[in-house]
Amino acid sequence: MPALELVEPLQNTSGTYSVAVVGGGSATVSFVKSLVNRVMDQKIKKVKLTIFEKGITVGPGLPYQDDFDCIRINVPAKAMSICSRNTKDFEEWLYHKKEYWRLYMESEFLPRRVFGEYLSETLCSAIERGKDYIPCEIILKKVIDIYKQDNGRYEILTDDGQHFDYDFVLLAIGVMKPDDHYQLMGESGYIHSPYPAKRTLQNIEKKETVTLIGSGLAAVDMALALRFKGHEGKIFMISRNGKLPAVRGQDGPYNTRFYTLDNLYRFFEKDGYVSLRHAVRLLRKEFKAAELDWREILFNKAERHDHLESFRAKLNESVTENPWYEILCEIHAVTNRFWKDVPGEHKQIFIQKYQSAYINKKAPIPLINASQIYSLLRSKQLQILGGIQSIHKRERKFYVKLLNRQEITCDHIINTTGPSMDVSKNALLKNLLTRGYVTEDINGGIRVDFESGSVISKDDRVNSTLCAIGHIANGTYFFINSLELIVHIADRIAERCMTVLTESTL
Ligand SMILES: Cc1cc2nc3c(=O)[nH]c(=O)nc-3n(C[C@H](O)[C@H](O)[C@H](O)COP(=O)(O)OP(=O)(O)OC[C@H]3O[C@@H](n4cnc5c(N)ncnc54)[C@H](O)[C@@H]3O)c2cc1C
Repeated sequence: MPALELVEPLQNTSGTYSVAVVGGGSATVSFVKSLVNRVMDQKIKKVKLTIFEKGITVGPGLPYQDDFDCIRINVPAKAMSICSRNTKDFEEWLYHKKEYWRLYMESEFLPRRVFGEYLSETLCSAIERGKDYIPCEIILKKVIDIYKQDNGRYEILTDDGQHFDYDFVLLAIGVMKPDDHYQLMGESGYIHSPYPAKRTLQNIEKKETVTLIGSGLAAVDMALALRFKGHEGKIFMISRNGKLPAVRGQDGPYNTRFYTLDNLYRFFEKDGYVSLRHAVRLLRKEFKAAELDWREILFNKAERHDHLESFRAKLNESVTENPWYEILCEIHAVTNRFWKDVPGEHKQIFIQKYQSAYINKKAPIPLINASQIYSLLRSKQLQILGGIQSIHKRERKFYVKLLNRQEITCDHIINTTGPSMDVSKNALLKNLLTRGYVTEDINGGIRVDFESGSVISKDDRVNSTLCAIGHIANGTYFFINSLELIVHIADRIAERCMTVLTESTL
């Protein structure tokens, strides 16, 4: 890979530095909170901020919007802070909300809408607190294009034809729409994007048969949402491997002995990179030291697809003892930090061969949800199947043919396969790609600089005034789908923004 060159911003002569964020979800809330703190710490009064949001509210974004209470956060509330300076921020917020504190006492895996409310309030109070230093306006419009002008500033174009000028832009647009794997878009009865379930499931009649394509966390959310609505018809969950995620057990701190940053950097010092082989060698030792077989835990292929008995085993394991989960959490944290030193082709091998099995274990279902899935399986209302060959619609029914020649007939299909990895399908990103402001990452998303979140342009230059965060930067990070990592990156981008701001306006 050619050496990356930093594009220095041009001098700002207006005296006021303007920052725009495209998208108003949790990444933005975290960035704004961090930027306000930094601007206030330094008592700088020459910054203004604009948030563009295409939806009707700012804060919740897609994951944490208003929805059924069974759509839960899959991480305990105590680990869900939006604030890089206070990891207990969400818990403290809950403490002051009587009704939510009560919910929290019932289960630490709260409805996602509660977190959405926390995000909106946190954003409002950050904006209010910083208003004398960094005034913020919110524009509820969709951004459709961004141009870089000759003076180095950005012109943002919204879908109603308005133009706005900024010195610094952060792209925080969340996830891409899913791929339309079976060309079903536009068919009545087909739901392409599942959230919010409160809206997308409203036309499903109680006794109708529903097929969920996918068997990951989104499929679990939809099965639970149907149950929550009192659905009585059959539910099929069909995916390539037909496996549900693991069930989350107890987790606590774990100190790895072998899989440590020090040991990985020893490889780096010797070879100039960390290979998958290096990482696996340490991982194997780590599990062995705990008398566990890493292959068995991560890639157990014995079961063809999940059914009542295999899921009961996962449930039992989670309530008795699953020491591997603590180890995996620590391994995950270490991997996030050295991922930038893994060669691109090794990352690709991991993504293609191992990522889905890994995520199946690392992003497990909370026990409260898993017990409900178990009761759906036990009543035979839910069935998990593996391998779709084709899906066709004839008259009012969908016909799903499986690789084992079985055919399922259903009234509705819900696509829960997750976001597309193809950034060129997003109209805004497509424009930026065409102009060479951003480039595609072979491992997904657009290329960004690991440390600063700055995008990398077609001519391999790191653009310090255009940053990207969240799913669109997923090729750079080990596992971007975690709030903890997003908060960490948002803080680094805010730091970068402050550096550019002070350098260009002083
Ligand atoms: C369904 C789901 C559930 C998740 N659950 C968890 C969880 O339980 N725990 C956890 O740690 N992590 C979870 N994550 C991962 C992580 O928390 C989220 O991905 C992350 O919070 C997303 O934040 P974001 O700001 O990048 O995207 P979002 O929150 O989706 O925000 C993006 C915003 O940008 C807006 N937007 C998009 N395009 C434009 C445009 N052109 N112009 C203007 N506005 C635009 C959208 O309307 C949206 O409001 C989940 C992710 C998903 C997708």
